[in-house]
Amino acid sequence: MLGDGKSVVLSFDDGPAPVGALESILQTLRDNQIKAEFYVLGNEVELYPDAARKIVRDGHDIQNHSWSHADLAAAQAEDVRSELEETQNVIEDTTGFIPTKIRPPYGAGGFRGHLDADLVEAARELSLEIVTWDIDTEDWKAPQGLGPEKIRNIESQFAQQSRKTSFNILMHVQPGTARDLPSFIAQLKEWGFTIAVP
Ligand SMILES: [Zn+2]
Repeated sequence: MLGDGKSVVLSFDDGPAPVGALESILQTLRDNQIKAEFYVLGNEVELYPDAARKIVRDGHDIQNHSWSHADLAAAQAEDVRSELEETQNVIEDTTGFIPTKIRPPYGAGGFRGHLDADLVEAARELSLEIVTWDIDTEDWKAPQGLGPEKIRNIESQFAQQSRKTSFNILMHVQPGTARDLPSFIAQLKEWGFTIAVP
């Protein structure tokens, strides 16, 4: 089977809002006893501190996705630094969790071979690992969520990386993904994947 002897980590970007979608995702993860990682925006943590705390209270990792969803590859060095640093600060002040990873919006400047020098420097100063993903669910594309056409695309992404044994799956905090997450988790298990702790 596709996932025999292989593992996945579930990750969710652009939270903690919308809060309704977040709460649904958290419930599904609780029901399935899964720990995931959430790459949040600093400005949303500031607006929705209780939602950010719920992520941490449930035992998930909360990580840095910039302050304002900026394109960090295009931004000036000082802006890259403040996008990362202010997000670190609001997450730590709000939740007590100190993020260890930055996933740049759009992956911009974060892929091996295309690393942005300002991003590398700011991440180093803040002790952040720059990460991207292995499987792009494209859950944000219409029709939003993880429906049949997305599942076919995800299956072929796994097949194309046949020698890889652990995968980070990119999703987003949004209603369609929250709705489809229970069936997606069931599909991953049916393919034989183990769902790992980040
Ligand atoms: Zn994003």
